[in-house]
Amino acid sequence: MSAHYAQSRRRPLIFLLVISLGILALWLRTDDEPVQYTRWQGLAPAVMTNALASVNDNSLRAVAEPQQGRGQPDAQRPYGNPLRATSTVMTQGYGVGTHAPAHVWGAIDLAIDSTGNGMADPQGSWNHPIYATHDGVVTVTPNSYPAGNHVWIVNDAYRTGYAHLATFTVSNGQVVARGDLIGTMGSTGMSSGPHLDYQVWEKVNGAWINRNPLDFSPFELAP
Ligand SMILES: [Zn+2]
Repeated sequence: MSAHYAQSRRRPLIFLLVISLGILALWLRTDDEPVQYTRWQGLAPAVMTNALASVNDNSLRAVAEPQQGRGQPDAQRPYGNPLRATSTVMTQGYGVGTHAPAHVWGAIDLAIDSTGNGMADPQGSWNHPIYATHDGVVTVTPNSYPAGNHVWIVNDAYRTGYAHLATFTVSNGQVVARGDLIGTMGSTGMSSGPHLDYQVWEKVNGAWINRNPLDFSPFELAP
């Protein structure tokens, strides 16, 4: 009698355990799906490393270091981290939050983690230099909304957008090469703190298609 009583009390607990494990399994399975727009979700702020910044950093993954500047064969194509710092963190991924829908606003938000705790911090981010990721012609738009102080770099096949800048170091019509300084990080326009909103667009059959900047960079999760 007492054994039967104990068993009947345990049954709801076992039922709850099975349901919980089921939910956990579903959650883990969803997290592992290779969905491009959300693949960095849940990891934010993701700590990223960049071979452009320092070849002496032991934490870097094996990523080929591209040559910089004019004359590079593929310099029309965006490549690399516009902040050029191993302390770069991504504070909002592609196609999520205010970056949705991706075909209109697709971007990544980047800032600096100067203390190494995995979080962006304003003191390290304010006025951090921002560099062109490819060759092109500059269009500068001051005080726009929502992009604030904004730079486009455009060529026949690609354009990249750099939003919320504090200052410009380029002007309208200027020709820049990959690696040229274009401005400094700020929080102008629709922005809650200093960061860079970075967009990549590719011209396909005459139409500009928004692309995930992470597909044009050596960004990797730090070990
Ligand atoms: Zn953004």
